[in-house]
Amino acid sequence: MSALEPASIQCPYCWETLHISVDPSVPDQTYVEDCQVCCQPIVIHAVFDATGALTVTAEPENP
Ligand SMILES: [Zn+2]
Repeated sequence: MSALEPASIQCPYCWETLHISVDPSVPDQTYVEDCQVCCQPIVIHAVFDATGALTVTAEPENP
C-alpha cells in the first residue's frame, strides 16, 4: 500500500510546469508521458533515494 507521490516537472518543450504522480513502490522508473499543454512526449525519470526523497527529471523524447 502506497499513495502516489506528487511531483512537479517542467516540460522540456514548452516550459510549462506540470504536476505528475509517481508510484513510490518503484524506486527507479522511466516512462513517457505526453505534456498536458503541448502534447509532446516527455521522458520522465523518477528516482527515490534511500531516504525516500523523490527526484524527477524530464527530458525531450527526441533531443
Ligand atoms: Zn509542453
